Amino acid sequence: MDSTSSRRHAATANAINILLVEDNPADADLLGEILEEADEIEWSLVHVERLKDALQSLHEQDFDVVLLDLSLPDKQGLPTIAQTHEAAPDLPIVVLTGLSDKVIALEALRQGAQDYLVKGKIDTYTLVRAIRYAIERAHTLKKLRQSEEQLQRLNEELERRVAEQTDELRQKNQSLQSEISERQRLEEELRHALAKEKELSDLKSRIISVVSHEYRTPLATILSSTELLEHYGHNWQEEKKQLHFHRIESSVHHLTRLVNDVLMFSKAEAGKLEFNPVELDVVEFCRDLVEELQLPAQNQHSINLRCLGTHLDVYLDEKLLRQILSNLLSNALKYSPDGGKIQFDLIFDQNTVTFRIQDEGIGIPAKDQPQLFDTFYRSSNVGTISGTGLGLAIVKRCVDIHRGQIVVESEEGVGTTFTVILPLNIEIDLYVYGYSSLEN
Ligand code: ATP
Ligand code: MG
Repeated sequence: MDSTSSRRHAATANAINILLVEDNPADADLLGEILEEADEIEWSLVHVERLKDALQSLHEQDFDVVLLDLSLPDKQGLPTIAQTHEAAPDLPIVVLTGLSDKVIALEALRQGAQDYLVKGKIDTYTLVRAIRYAIERAHTLKKLRQSEEQLQRLNEELERRVAEQTDELRQKNQSLQSEISERQRLEEELRHALAKEKELSDLKSRIISVVSHEYRTPLATILSSTELLEHYGHNWQEEKKQLHFHRIESSVHHLTRLVNDVLMFSKAEAGKLEFNPVELDVVEFCRDLVEELQLPAQNQHSINLRCLGTHLDVYLDEKLLRQILSNLLSNALKYSPDGGKIQFDLIFDQNTVTFRIQDEGIGIPAKDQPQLFDTFYRSSNVGTISGTGLGLAIVKRCVDIHRGQIVVESEEGVGTTFTVILPLNIEIDLYVYGYSSLEN
């Protein structure tokens, strides 16, 4: 039996294309006849009896409405609607039900059918009305869905743009942030440089004031001795003349030392102290130094040099070592005005060489000890003993360049011990440290 039949009523382009899915021939015929009477619409009708054929027709042709029976030979009940709907989502469905199927009919509406017609109660008027309303409603729904889709698209577009702009803003913000921190860093550097500049300029003024003050005494001595020699020298005995010559000489030495100290110190401050370690016989070096220093002391003091441990040749910077030891030894002499023994120990160890200089002089008050290595710092008990307070600052820098340590132990009125410990393997780090010490 042919499962598809069609009829037409004034089929024009405007005709409503109806798909009737109904397995009962009597019902189908009846509907056909009812439609025949509907003069106010133009229509064409395709009739099939099974859902399978209905789906096929939907696939092949466009319809304006489907009249769907829910008890077909190959599908019954609500799934019939679901499958039809799936095949043609925008197609309005009018469900055909029996009298007893009211509940199902209502459920069908919930599932997406546009309307339902109760078989046996259909007349031309209700049929036409149902078809028209179904088409109308489906049309409206389609438009609604389309505008919803459009809205959704717009919304997505909006979200995308917002996300894009947010991202752009975040990037701008980030680059702004890094610009700000770069500026802050530069500002900080500038502030630091200015502080350093100020520190240096303060230091310069202090050097000038201290040095000019320290210069006065030896210059006055030189002046008075030369004046005396000039005016009275011819009447003096040789011995007295020599005394004044000696005064002049030692004042000149003192001035020379002062100039050297200032030069040394400003070099150290500018990070320009050169570090040239050479293989050195330290014992020999210390012996010569002690001899040199003891000469003008006129036997008032005795420096006792002692070597402990296995005597090794070491790599040290001769110039810097001379600064360290001559400053410490001359302090020991200078701050022991009543004479006394000065013990100078040289101790060799596996990895270090230690210089220990111990005096029985005026000592250093405990409160002064923490600032001892500060530039120009002099302890409160120096009295009339002259000095600039530069010596230990220089010593400290020279020890630092050797990567060594310096420690002071002292008791006021009892004596002072300075201990300098220098590493022996300094040549390993030579270039690294030498370089960085020049840079900083
Ligand atoms: P100069 O620059 O001529 O050496 P200075 O001896 O005063 O002057 P530093 O050598 O730096 O300066 O010493 C700083 C201070 O430490 C001294 O002024 C002194 O108060 C104290 N001091 C250093 N060595 C001794 C010591 N052996 N005994 C007692 N006080 C000392
Ligand atoms: Mg000194």
